[in-house]
Amino acid sequence: MSARRVRDIEYQLLPGSSRRTTDIVIERDGCIVVRPPASYTPEQVDAVVESKRMWIYRNLAEWKDLNASAVAREWVNGESFLYLGSAYRLSLVSQQSAPLKLREGRFCLSRDVIERGGTPAARNAFVCFYADKGQQRFRERVAYFAPKVGVEVGGIKVKDMGYRWASCGRSATLNFHWKCMMAPPKIVDYIVVHELCHFHYRHHGDTFWNEVDKVLPDWRERKEWLRKNGAGLEL
Ligand SMILES: [Zn+2]
Repeated sequence: MSARRVRDIEYQLLPGSSRRTTDIVIERDGCIVVRPPASYTPEQVDAVVESKRMWIYRNLAEWKDLNASAVAREWVNGESFLYLGSAYRLSLVSQQSAPLKLREGRFCLSRDVIERGGTPAARNAFVCFYADKGQQRFRERVAYFAPKVGVEVGGIKVKDMGYRWASCGRSATLNFHWKCMMAPPKIVDYIVVHELCHFHYRHHGDTFWNEVDKVLPDWRERKEWLRKNGAGLEL
């Protein structure tokens, strides 16, 4: 088998067959494979491929469509994604300005995202969605709880925190994992209050939990929910 090229079409030339016509096939991986009659010279095969250009283009386009929906299926077929404790089903949509939107009870993912970047791009659209929504929500909830805990916060960042939900950085900056946005609002609040109370105590001793208790008397249930369900908050 040798690789040849006619204009913008690259194809794999197979050894000739005893048939009298040239077979052109688009393989499952998108390769164009050509098996000519045994008597043909490579130049003659090139000419046949050239004459079938429109057919090849049309079939390549079809192959692309099929392939895109095969990748998309993993992200569509019965998949649901969490946002603030509720599960929403995913729909692929055409002509949407934003890569991902939550609209009418569904996560609407732009088909372009999947077609251009496949599953990694789809995942990234979700990460950006959570980080963006998280930025707004954490700002609001921190503004609400900080005075109750009696602390002042320098800034908020939402990012990938690895296995941690949140941390308190330098100059009183709070960092939150974007995954927090998959948890119910009550749990998001618990994560916020927990982190704010670390401004008073860096440890998890009785005095620390006493601070948490002043603001969220039912913190034990929330903490337990996170312990049990935290691992399920994954993309
Ligand atoms: Zn802690």
